[in-house]
Amino acid sequence: MKERLKNWFARMWVFLVNRNTEGLSDGQGVPFDNDMVDLVDAELESQDSPISREEWGDIILYRFIDVPRGIKAYFTTRNGGVSKPPYQSLNLGFHVGDDPEAVSGNRKLLASVLDLDSALITSPRQRHSAEVSLLLDQTDVGAGADSEDSAFDPCDGLITSLKGAPILLHFADCVPVILAAEGKTQSVGVLHAGREGLMQGVVGRGVLSMSNQGVAPRSITAAIGPAIGPCCYEVDDETASRFADQFGADLVTGNHLDLPGAVKQELTGAGVNAGNIACLDRCTACSSGFYSYRRDGVTGRHGAIAWIE
Ligand SMILES: [Zn+2]
Repeated sequence: MKERLKNWFARMWVFLVNRNTEGLSDGQGVPFDNDMVDLVDAELESQDSPISREEWGDIILYRFIDVPRGIKAYFTTRNGGVSKPPYQSLNLGFHVGDDPEAVSGNRKLLASVLDLDSALITSPRQRHSAEVSLLLDQTDVGAGADSEDSAFDPCDGLITSLKGAPILLHFADCVPVILAAEGKTQSVGVLHAGREGLMQGVVGRGVLSMSNQGVAPRSITAAIGPAIGPCCYEVDDETASRFADQFGADLVTGNHLDLPGAVKQELTGAGVNAGNIACLDRCTACSSGFYSYRRDGVTGRHGAIAWIE
């Protein structure tokens, strides 16, 4: 019953947002339909996958289930939002040139189906660095919720033990990583692992930051979200050779880099149990259900969001 109600509210919100942004478009304002996600998800349904697909009206999300009770974690897709091309449709990034009202509308839509207050969602300014920060101060909760100008200080990983403080980072090809754990307290984190950040050690820094909060790495569960796969991520000779030197030749085929594979290796290297790492295994450049900077250039951003209830 609760799910039905949520779906109803989500649809109502889409209707209201579309009505309010009518003047900005051709008046259609129709959210993208499910055809946009060309994902084959039968395997997620059939096996005991730690990542499951959820549909909330037109919004399609991937939920990371293997987390301590009271922690919630999701990867978003392009479906179910109000942004117009080339940002269609659930663009969560304010910094990509989309209409800010549409981005706010999308964040509210997402918040409504997840039972969150969109004003409390914290996002940092991402810089392809290895900087990982802690969200400790209640006054910082909600930084970046309404614009890029208000975003949390530049970093590419954000960790918190605060309750009711969802962390959202943005992606279009780079690897989203969600960390969750229960130590002395519960802790969640989201990392933005692009090639540069990966090579600078953002994944290890994320695990270290969490373990500094009293969480043993072996108690961390991690999910690797939608990211550009080795099928589509080709780089020049010099970059491929630097990547192979750092992460091993197994993760480079021709000049194609396996970023999600490198993230997994970094996680286990930092002490996370391989059995505690889930991988969605979806290539953003192959699938129109996700944003891909490499495929589309000017485009939106999907998200990874995690919080302690
Ligand atoms: Zn691909």
